[in-house]
Amino acid sequence: MSAPEGVIVTMDGPAGTGKSTVALKLAQRLGLEMLDTGAMYRAAAVVAIDEGVAADDGEALAARIAEEGLVFDWSQRPPRLLLGGRDLTERIRDQDVNTVVSIVARQAPLREALVRAQREIGHRHPRLVTEGRDQGSVVFPDAAVRFYLDAHPEVRARRRVEQMRSQGRPADYEAVLRAIQQRDLLDETRTDGPLVCPAEAQRIDTSLLTLPQVVDELERRVRARVPAGLLASPCAAVRA
Ligand code: C5P
Repeated sequence: MSAPEGVIVTMDGPAGTGKSTVALKLAQRLGLEMLDTGAMYRAAAVVAIDEGVAADDGEALAARIAEEGLVFDWSQRPPRLLLGGRDLTERIRDQDVNTVVSIVARQAPLREALVRAQREIGHRHPRLVTEGRDQGSVVFPDAAVRFYLDAHPEVRARRRVEQMRSQGRPADYEAVLRAIQQRDLLDETRTDGPLVCPAEAQRIDTSLLTLPQVVDELERRVRARVPAGLLASPCAAVRA
C-alpha cells in the first residue's frame, strides 16, 4: 500500500491565542503530526542566553544551531526538542527566553536557516499541522488549509495569567499584557517573515470561544476542504 498523500494545515497568529494547544489537539483528531515552530526560535534564544551569543547576531546563532544540530524527537507526542542531544523542551518555556525570543526571531540569517529546516521537516513529515507566525505566508504558502488565530490582547493576557497561576507561577496581569503587546509589535514590524494574516487564510477570532470550541471549528473547516480519505476518520481519531 502506498503512503497516504500529504496534508499541510498551517496555523499562524500572535502569542496567547492558544495555537499550540489547538494545533496539537487538531493534529490528533485528524491523524496528522504537529510542528511547533516557535519552539525552534525559542531554542535559538536559549543558545543566546546559555552560550553567550549576542541575541542580534543571526549569523552566529544560525551557525551554532547548525553545528550542534536542532532536531525534534518524532517518537514523542508532542515531539520533544533536542539541541546537540540536550533536551530543551522545558528550558524553552522559561521567562528569560520569552524576553529574548522576539529579538532573536528578527534576525534574517537565523530565519532563513529555520525556514529551510521547517520545509525539510514538511518534506519528511508531509502530514502536518504546523503553527507559528509565518507558516501560511512564507514557509508553506501552498498548504491545503491556512488558519490565522487571533484574540484581543486583554483576553490573551488573561489566558496567559491563568495558565501561569495554574502552574504555580506568580503572574501580574498588567506586566503580562505589556509583554504581549511588546512581542506583537516586534513580531508585526520585522521585515523578514512578519506576523501577518496570510492571503486566503481563514481568520478565527478566539476571544469569545473556549479552546475545545476552537478545535471543533477548525476540525469542521479542515474536513470541509480536505478529502476524507486523507484524514483520520472522526470516530477513529483521538477525541480530546
Ligand atoms: O509561538 P511562540 O510564542 O512559542 O513563539 C515564540 C516567538 O518566536 C514569537 O514571539 C515569535 O517572535 C517567534 N516566532 C517566529 N516565527 C515563527 C514562530 C515563532 O518569529 N514561525
